[in-house]
Amino acid sequence: MKALVTGGAGFLGSHLCDLLLSKDYEVICVDNLITGNMQNIAHIKADRFSYINHNVTKPLYLEEEIDFLFHLASPASPIDYLDLPIQTLKVGALGTHNMLGLAKEKGARFLLASTSEIYGDPLVNPQSEEYWGNVNSVGPRGVYDEAKRFAEAITMAYHRNHKLDTRIVRIFNTYGSRMRLDDGRVVPNFIGQALRGEDLTVYGDGSQTRSFCYVSDEVEGIYRLMMSDYTLPVNIGNPEEHTILEFAKIILKVTGSNSKITFKELPVDDPKQRRPDITKARKLLGWEPVVSLEYGLEETIKYFRRILRK
Ligand code: NAD
Ligand code: UDP
Ligand code: UDP
Repeated sequence: MKALVTGGAGFLGSHLCDLLLSKDYEVICVDNLITGNMQNIAHIKADRFSYINHNVTKPLYLEEEIDFLFHLASPASPIDYLDLPIQTLKVGALGTHNMLGLAKEKGARFLLASTSEIYGDPLVNPQSEEYWGNVNSVGPRGVYDEAKRFAEAITMAYHRNHKLDTRIVRIFNTYGSRMRLDDGRVVPNFIGQALRGEDLTVYGDGSQTRSFCYVSDEVEGIYRLMMSDYTLPVNIGNPEEHTILEFAKIILKVTGSNSKITFKELPVDDPKQRRPDITKARKLLGWEPVVSLEYGLEETIKYFRRILRK
């Protein structure tokens, strides 16, 4: 079986490539390295793996057959998509259109990597797939949220009109090795700050919540969804919810750092609460997270220590 992974040189995409290779798939990774890094796939030696440097906002025509297309290409960290607003809109819209066209041409099953951000600043907690969300289309985060909402809509249109076999995963905050230390997300920021002995920067008063999923759990959930026959969106994330202030204290404890906590301005439209309802994933996929926050953080801290030593 052959799988194509767009965004395969990024954080989640590279872990997904590893999982697929471990299950004997042939894997084609397509990435333009706008936020990804060849270092993330440098360890892969299998002949069954190939890499194509391509911007998926442009059409992609391939000779070989494809059975499964995992479409993950998109900037994902707030500082990346705020820095790359047009590219983010284009990859969600044009990139998703092209990859749907490619999947249709090849008769491949297509999976869209969507996000909890489609719920915006949610007015209900936890968020189930039935919740329609609360998104500010003209705010700075709108470039990412609306791109992903368009991507979900066009995926469903290809499903309904072209009878394409599609899946939509709504990924909630995920962390682990191969995140960039400078990608601005809270996990690399706090761990980097703790290991360097700098103050941990909590935005706002730290009362906003997030729920953190370890990368091995996340990619297992994504894979199970692709292999299922369910075509509506499914949340994949860890329902253990923490305030950001609590999370900063957890990072200090796990790293054993003496860093202090300082408070900075809360970014515009920063969601106040986020926690996945994973009833669907449990029922349909028999999936739930198995890695504890403590273990996941220890593994991630080991990775960042190695990066900092270099
Ligand atoms: P990442 O930035 O590490 O990976 C994204 C990859 O896509 C990068 O390698 C980048 O170079 C590539 N890419 C971006 N635009 C491209 C284009 N036009 N053509 C080809 N390649 C392109 O981010 P990530 O955290 O691994 O996120 C992967 C996917 O998962 C994204 O679609 C993101 O929206 C989604 N997601 C991630 C999280 C999370 O917590 N990590 C949460 C929700 C959704
Ligand atoms: N496409 C692609 N590779 C393919 C087939 C299509 O990149 O192997 C692109 C094509 O250029 C178009 C998009 O996918 O931009 C959608 O193509 P499709 O044939 O589904 O529909 P269209 O929108 O052209 O009717
Ligand atoms: N955050 C923080 N300090 C940081 C980075 C992020 O307090 O140095 C907060 C951010 O405001 C948000 C949460 O941590 O409330 C998660 O931010 P991240 O960028 O990781 O992901 P998001 O869920 O906002 O996409």
